[in-house]
Amino acid sequence: MNKKEQNNVLEKIVSLCKRRGFVFPSSEIYDGFTAVYDFGPYGVELANNIKKEWWKAMTQLRDDVVGLDSAIFMSPKIWQASGHVKGFSDPLTECRKCHSRLRLDSLLEEAGVFADEKMSEEEINEIFEKNKEKIKCPTCGANDFTPAKNFNLLVQSNLGNFTGDWTKEPTYLRGETCQGIYSNYKNVLDSTRVKIPFGIAQIGKAFRNEITARQFIFRTREFEQMEMQYFVKPGDDMKYFEQWRDIRWQFYLSLGIKEENLQWHKHENLVFYAKEAYDIEYKFPFGFKELEGVHARGDYDLSVHAKASGIDLNYLDQANNEKYIPHIVETSAGVGRTFLAVLTESYREEKIADDVRTVLALPVKLAPIKIAVFPLLKNKPELVTKAKEFFDDLKQDWRCEFDDNGNIGKRYRRQDEIGTPYCLTIDFDTLEKGLVTVRDRDTMEQVQIKADEVKKYFQERL
Ligand code: ATP
Repeated sequence: MNKKEQNNVLEKIVSLCKRRGFVFPSSEIYDGFTAVYDFGPYGVELANNIKKEWWKAMTQLRDDVVGLDSAIFMSPKIWQASGHVKGFSDPLTECRKCHSRLRLDSLLEEAGVFADEKMSEEEINEIFEKNKEKIKCPTCGANDFTPAKNFNLLVQSNLGNFTGDWTKEPTYLRGETCQGIYSNYKNVLDSTRVKIPFGIAQIGKAFRNEITARQFIFRTREFEQMEMQYFVKPGDDMKYFEQWRDIRWQFYLSLGIKEENLQWHKHENLVFYAKEAYDIEYKFPFGFKELEGVHARGDYDLSVHAKASGIDLNYLDQANNEKYIPHIVETSAGVGRTFLAVLTESYREEKIADDVRTVLALPVKLAPIKIAVFPLLKNKPELVTKAKEFFDDLKQDWRCEFDDNGNIGKRYRRQDEIGTPYCLTIDFDTLEKGLVTVRDRDTMEQVQIKADEVKKYFQERL
């Protein structure tokens, strides 16, 4: 795909998301609010289904992982100890012509020059000097930029500060969810039966003052993470790291993502404490980009918090009478990016006669609506009443939708666009012969089945 085609696919997905109630730009009635999005009625269902799958895979099916829901706000001491207050930054540059603010590492990367957000100001500016001619402003096309300055991404607030000048001692909206896991590691250890190796999993919002926010929900300033920190004995890191790499790769395949659209990206420029870091990248309409990070973080996180808090965070292995600070293997994924990957993967346009059918071929488990129930005609009360009966029964088990608006063909197309795997139509055969029609999203085939076998039919398929 060339750049124009890529933009085209993204535009179509963005438009479907808006038109069909998946994703809305935030605060639209007030001209919007950059890099923040809202999930609409079908979007919240899809996002919840993604989270449900992750939670099941990472906690319910694991004997060695427990869940957590820590608060968004934490003591600012946590962000000082973790290094975020000083070093959680991206290199910010400004186009001297149109004054767009941009990430220098992304500009260099797009020009095929290796750069990384973790480089120091000096390092990245040196690379910039050597490659000045290669980079262009994506807004106006000029290539005149200011040298980069490290811009801190932590979002500040006045929570709990009543001095009037809270900026001197701000509290922070969490920049990542895992700090809540590290700060509760001892609580979990003391209150449950976990033994090393074990993990703590959490889903929750994170906030970053991202410099450039393009590419729809790929990069937003408020987003949701699905993170798991796995605590291991020092020396066992790489064994578990490889296991988790495999588990996380398989997870995306289980969401219907084709293997050819995934790739590993190995971090070459590791932060000083990291042992190994890989990202799982997905082929988004704008190219392969990070979906999830799987990182071996050594003992850095617990060590810095033990030092700064003065609390002993050693693990006591009673069987071997050993004491140590556990090492951590982290898996860190984004709900929004998984959402966009799943939509990209399932978006189809099919040519049927002179028409084009748009379909979201979502895996059944992710589909926002599992069954749409239709009376054939809106103005036949006996059909409407019967269809309502089916709807009321089926909704006890599955997320269903009732629709009696417009002709049946249009109703099918609408459900195709939101990815509903089955439509159930109640017609005169239902009243006269006890038969209903089930229509399959992917094959568009319609079959008549006995009305009293409807539940069994869906139980076997959903
Ligand atoms: P990037 O390099 O794209 O900025 P990152 O390496 O800073 O991402 P991490 O800090 O490793 O990202 O966060 C873990 C995961 O959280 C990412 O893989 C991504 O899925 C998600 N994520 C991070 N930042 C954002 C964001 N601004 N918007 C949406 N999702 C995000």
